[in-house]
Amino acid sequence: MQKLAFNDLGAQYRHLKKEIDAGIADVIAGSHFISGPQVEQLEKELAAYVGRKYCVSVASGTDALRMPLMAEEIGKGDAVFVPAFTFFATAEVASLCGATPVFCDSDPDTFNLSPQSLEKQIKKTLGDGKLKPRAVIAVDLFGQPADFPAIQQICDQYGLILVEDAAQGFGGAIGDKRACSFGKYSGTSFFPAKALGCYGDGGAVFTDDEEAYRLLLSLRVHGKGSFKYENVRIGLNARLDTLQAAILLPKLHAFDQENEHRKKAAALYEKQLRDRFSTPVIKKGFSSGFGYYTLKAESPEERERIVGGLKAAGIPAMVYYPKPLHLQKVYEPLGYQAGDLPNAERLCNIVFSLPMHGYITEEEIGLVCTALNNL
Ligand SMILES: *Cc1c(COP(=O)(O)O)cnc(C)c1O
Repeated sequence: MQKLAFNDLGAQYRHLKKEIDAGIADVIAGSHFISGPQVEQLEKELAAYVGRKYCVSVASGTDALRMPLMAEEIGKGDAVFVPAFTFFATAEVASLCGATPVFCDSDPDTFNLSPQSLEKQIKKTLGDGKLKPRAVIAVDLFGQPADFPAIQQICDQYGLILVEDAAQGFGGAIGDKRACSFGKYSGTSFFPAKALGCYGDGGAVFTDDEEAYRLLLSLRVHGKGSFKYENVRIGLNARLDTLQAAILLPKLHAFDQENEHRKKAAALYEKQLRDRFSTPVIKKGFSSGFGYYTLKAESPEERERIVGGLKAAGIPAMVYYPKPLHLQKVYEPLGYQAGDLPNAERLCNIVFSLPMHGYITEEEIGLVCTALNNL
């Protein structure tokens, strides 16, 4: 048997080879490498899929989160509230704009931004009087949407812009509202390892607001005005290239099937692991795209033993994320201490993720579970 992969991009390519190869050949034959017709087609299909009016494809998930903050002219003196338990880019984009990330704790069961901690940090920031609360970036961690009904309510109450970091969210939903449709803006990533990934860097921003859409289009290409060589603001070069769009189209067409497969794989894991492990908690009415299948160990020592034991058995397990953002070296000047955000800190010490992708087999899941249950 082949070596078990954490995320088997090769298996996906074998399934979609004909369509992907033809898409790549088309782009090369057409020589329209930037802003080719496949880019516009992808944007239309993505917007329709997630249920948003507008989609702006961009060069990375990081750009997809940075551009909404730029569009809202968020900068120096502004506070952007983010969870401490997430990938670095969620907070980095606030810093890139000159704003200050204010870190919030996570829900210990769903791993997502805790609405209670968010409200506490907003009140504290208002009380300190140094920063102006402007925006919240809530993350769909590991595939489950954040608690957007509760978070949107808090944002409305305090007049904050809500951005959904759906870099891991594609495929999840709350009721029949799909991920990438929450808040004023949603940003997703097409980094190869994400649930919907391309063959390089890529991303997309979604919004229902026409004025925001126009600003995003301008920001994507050097702050352009009515034509390419008129510049009305400082922007970026943040276009998704045509080859990546051509690769994403067949992957998007196969996405529902892969998403169903991941959900079934998660159910198989759940059945075989729930007696011994702390398996994912999905909130009532929510569904996860299970981009990652993440368990909690009972202690940091137990996690070390489990991850080490799995590796010795030839099974790749990963730790996302080993260090909370408020304790990262670069944010030392903000003055956070260990113990400030206890749930986020504990999750960093005990979570681990198992192999998961749209083509994982029942046999592979069985091998992982047997190895885990024998540890
Ligand atoms: C991957 C990721 C990003 C950044 O996306 P890139 O495409 O790598 O720039 C942002 N936020 C989260 C939660 C991510 O997982």
